[in-house]
Amino acid sequence: MNKSYKIGVIKGDGIGPEIIDEAIKVLDAVSVALNFNLKYQEMLLGGSAIDETGVPLPEETIQGVKKCDSVLFGAIGGPKWDTLERHLRPESGLLGLRKEMGTFANLRPATVYDELINASTLKASVIKGVDIMVVRELTGGIYFGQPRELLAESAYNTMVYTKEEVQRIAKVAFDIAMQREKRICSVDKANVLEVSQFWREIVEEMAVEYPEVELTHMYVDNAAMQLIRDPKQFDVILTGNIFGDILSDAASMLSGSIGLLPSASTGKGVGLFEPIHGSAPDIAGQGIANPLATISSASMMLRYALGEDAAANKIDEAIKKALQDGYRTGDIGDFDAKEIVSCSQMGDIIADYASR
Ligand code: NAD
Repeated sequence: MNKSYKIGVIKGDGIGPEIIDEAIKVLDAVSVALNFNLKYQEMLLGGSAIDETGVPLPEETIQGVKKCDSVLFGAIGGPKWDTLERHLRPESGLLGLRKEMGTFANLRPATVYDELINASTLKASVIKGVDIMVVRELTGGIYFGQPRELLAESAYNTMVYTKEEVQRIAKVAFDIAMQREKRICSVDKANVLEVSQFWREIVEEMAVEYPEVELTHMYVDNAAMQLIRDPKQFDVILTGNIFGDILSDAASMLSGSIGLLPSASTGKGVGLFEPIHGSAPDIAGQGIANPLATISSASMMLRYALGEDAAANKIDEAIKKALQDGYRTGDIGDFDAKEIVSCSQMGDIIADYASR
């Protein structure tokens, strides 16, 4: 019997429904081509959830995601809900969902497509061939450490990592490295911070279990500089919450357009796969959004959550071919386009190429 997976689908707001529809089109095409079944269950989050249920994260969604094999998510938010109190806003729904799902690992690939090399602000010779995976710890470190306080004459936050927190994120990075070039650069500030010395020790211990993986360490200030100077030196970057926040944004801009970049947040249970961009209310409903970031997120879901690597490869190749053939949505239309296509035409093209 064919394998069957249950996918939670959260379309969200703005361009969310448009881009998710295209990702599903592509998922359907590869699942038919490779003989596995995908069943989808739609769930509400964000503004659309507020409109229907009065809250940004309905209980049904919290329970629903836990029964899925993985969750594909578009984007939430928009001006319509911006005046609501903080805890009722769409963004609170997303943060709450991530917390409920326990997604402690944020994976952000930064890939540069040859065809879009001119879309980057960096020289072609520096970025040609860049293919980095940033593995960022997402639920610990200074953003969550206690004690924390804002006083009249001073303020403080605390950077804490437990052994378990470092071990589990390091394991994610080593497992991913095994599927790639088997090189990890662990980024910290061990020359100044005890918490970073601790991080280093735990990562070194984990490396013993992965003798094939080459592990190096780099201070975060140097890593920021190296990412811009020579990004090709990196395969997997493993780092903590605050350093990863900054480095993953810097790395993502190597590729030139926000409409291309996928992400995955994974943890102990079900993972959440989503484009890095927001709901783009300025272009919602016009059919011009770039669906490639979401389609790439679907590919990450197949690879990292479902273990359907062949299907993920088909999608990645289809995206490359569509770009090679000169198809561009408007946001990347200035870069060697042969034909500007709509969101849904881009979905059709990728689905067609991926099903061959
Ligand atoms: P945004 O990412 O939505 O848009 C920034 C710019 O990029 C806009 O000009 C937009 O048109 C363009 N853009 C984004 N995605 C695109 C795509 N796929 N194709 C073509 N162009 C694209 O960021 P913003 O404008 O700061 O935020 C808009 C809303 O999205 C806000 O309510 C914000 O809170 C929310 N947001 C949600 C998420 C999420 O759901 N994960 C992330 C960031 C922002």
